[in-house]
Amino acid sequence: MKNKHFVIIGLGRFGTSIATTLYNLGQHVLAIDINEDRIQEIADNVTHAIQLDATDENVLKTLGLRNFDVAIVTIGTNIQASTMVTLLVKEMGVKYIVGKATSDLHAKILYKIGADRVILPEQDMGIRVAHHLVSSNILDYIELPSDYSMIELEPLDEWLNKSIRDIEIRGKYGINIVAIKNDKSIDVSPSANYIIKRTDILVALGSNKDLNKFETLIGKKN
Ligand code: ATP
Repeated sequence: MKNKHFVIIGLGRFGTSIATTLYNLGQHVLAIDINEDRIQEIADNVTHAIQLDATDENVLKTLGLRNFDVAIVTIGTNIQASTMVTLLVKEMGVKYIVGKATSDLHAKILYKIGADRVILPEQDMGIRVAHHLVSSNILDYIELPSDYSMIELEPLDEWLNKSIRDIEIRGKYGINIVAIKNDKSIDVSPSANYIIKRTDILVALGSNKDLNKFETLIGKKN
């Protein structure tokens, strides 16, 4: 991934974790918070850290935000500040905006204002943990903006050393294997003859209905 410019506004646990992870991944990170202590704490782990009130349009304008690829507004509890700041960064021309919401209504407002993606950290994590608990083979659950989702899963024992065609995942469950990952590479269009190995992680796409049915089924096998 090429280096991108990220601005993170709000350095609670969520914002701090995103900012420092991006920085450790080699990205340019500008971190902003109204609270000077938060700025001191993060200063060594991001590219720049600035203390300011992000609802102050005039101060925000001095940052040249139009040159940033992504703004992540992680102010959660103060909905007024969260919506104001999202609107301001949108107006200032940031290409992609991620918001953090504390409720479905808050999320809806952020989408209306122009956020490209809204995260509800507790709810999203709750959904992931629940899916993982139903089946320990399921490693991750990625919801797409429709009735479809992607899952990452470890192969079932009965699939090992069989081809994708032989396990009949599409015929039996209506699910497509769209990629195979392992520690060395990712194959984004595996052939039906691909032989599944223990170290593979299968990336599968399907309707939520089919994926749920499939999860319940493999949950019972575990
Ligand atoms: P988390 O759940 O991620 O730990 P939190 O519960 O600490 O977050 P939030 O209300 O979601 O708190 O705020 C996140 C951060 O946003 C805080 O560090 C807060 O100081 C900062 N913040 C709030 N308002 C502004 C603002 N107007 N400008 C800049 N930063 C702000």
